[in-house]
Amino acid sequence: MSGIAGRIRLVTGDITTLDVQAVVTAANKGLRGGGGVDGAVHRAAGPELLHACRAVAPCPTGQSRLTPGLALAADWVIHTVGPIYRDGNSGEAELLASAYWTALALAVEHSIDGVAFPCISTGVYGYPADAACDIAIESVHRWVQTSNLPRVIIFCCFGDADFQRYESRLRQVGLLSEA
Ligand code: ADP
Repeated sequence: MSGIAGRIRLVTGDITTLDVQAVVTAANKGLRGGGGVDGAVHRAAGPELLHACRAVAPCPTGQSRLTPGLALAADWVIHTVGPIYRDGNSGEAELLASAYWTALALAVEHSIDGVAFPCISTGVYGYPADAACDIAIESVHRWVQTSNLPRVIIFCCFGDADFQRYESRLRQVGLLSEA
């Protein structure tokens, strides 16, 4: 498969188990670890990840930081801070797009070939899932139109509802080929 659609993949499951060069985690500004996907990434990478985070913290909302992947199969962890959803009129959409873009920019800066994203901000941070899915897909779509790296970008959904949401949206915009 080639072209833009071939660069975007959709999987379901635990992002920490993926064999990809970098996994993105939905971090907090202090990069202190926490629950949800960030807790899973910290547990799987090991306690050294907190030390690595301290060296690059803090991270403002909408920005990203890079650390090694340590015990993960991934070489790198990209810690990106999505917005906490308030009312939808507090810059959330721009900040969420920026979380995706800055993560992708870090990947390019470090010649990272493959990146997997969770559904940033849609857990504890409360971003409505449909709107967040649209922003995630639109951000990645715009990125792949202007940059050859990362060669592969994976949306890693945790559960069927998100998987179906992404699958239908990706098909609508012509970014998912039939298997
Ligand atoms: P946030 O604070 O940015 O909302 P959360 O970790 O609470 O971050 O949730 C973000 C998304 O990550 C949610 O869709 C949640 O279901 C998902 N998630 C939780 N654990 C994992 C995991 N191990 N792998 C992939 N996604 C996960």
